[in-house]
Amino acid sequence: MRDNPISATVDFETDGVQHGFLKLPHSHDLSAWGSIMIPITVIKRGDGPTALLTGGNHGDEYEGPIALFDLARNLRVDQVSGRVIIVPAMNYPAFKAGTRTSPIDSGNMNRIFPGLPDGTVTEKIADYFQRCLLPLADYVLDIHSGGKTLSFVPFAAAHVLPDKAQEARCVAAMEAFGAPYSVKLLEIDNVGMYDTAAEELGKVFVSTELGGGGSATATTVEIAKRGVANVLKHAGIVGGELEVSPSLRLEMPDQRCFVASEATGLVEYCVDLGAAVESGDVIARIHDVQRTGSPPVEHRAEISGILIGRHFPGLTVLGDMLAAVAVPDI
Ligand code: CA
Repeated sequence: MRDNPISATVDFETDGVQHGFLKLPHSHDLSAWGSIMIPITVIKRGDGPTALLTGGNHGDEYEGPIALFDLARNLRVDQVSGRVIIVPAMNYPAFKAGTRTSPIDSGNMNRIFPGLPDGTVTEKIADYFQRCLLPLADYVLDIHSGGKTLSFVPFAAAHVLPDKAQEARCVAAMEAFGAPYSVKLLEIDNVGMYDTAAEELGKVFVSTELGGGGSATATTVEIAKRGVANVLKHAGIVGGELEVSPSLRLEMPDQRCFVASEATGLVEYCVDLGAAVESGDVIARIHDVQRTGSPPVEHRAEISGILIGRHFPGLTVLGDMLAAVAVPDI
């Protein structure tokens, strides 16, 4: 396979704090010999484990970029034993546009792994993570939120994996993150995900969903900052005690956890995020907006648990994810 066209302006083997770029040549109408400059920070001191921290995998999710630009500015080299690689906005063109996918090629970073060195812009970025950055890492944390069309209770997540020892390491790192909720996921279709790429390379991988709606709150940003610091402490890269608070352990065993919209219209939620629901309870009604007098279409929980995710804006179309329900992990 050919080399990836991205060159890093930082050296991953040099001790100290380096702020630089992943430089991806991109020729277009406004810059014939231009490049996409993806911000990156490397903080390294001596030998030890490496943590690879990312946000902005989807460009309209903000807790990750806020926490990681902050960490890049504030983490001192004398606090680090090992290496921290920080990419606050992984799909940088999408992040700058404020959109989930890239405005250049419509690339969805979390559906495109392992990427391609001679593919589209998004495929080239994915290939660089796949073949250059992930192999450097021991711990991989990818911070997601709901973006403009979803909202979640703040949770950290780990996946059910075939290698149970690896799964246990991922679950321990998820617990260390210390979000108010911790969810063990069986991914229904994991093809093309960064998560899967990291897990298949044997890494300790944690992801999150910390909020949503296309912005971030003081509360969710605080959870992100504390979670990042906790994962670095858990990895032994940064010293000090974990800042822990109670976390509700949940799991999502099968497709019954997801309720898809079977109507198009105005959505009325009957329960809010974090509420307990019983199987059969009405979670949302969708009102016909074409005419008055039609009964709303009711959408019911198919499993008992906690409402952890929902569609965000007030209008919904057929096929939208209306509700995600997770069950207590006992
Ligand atoms: Ca996301």
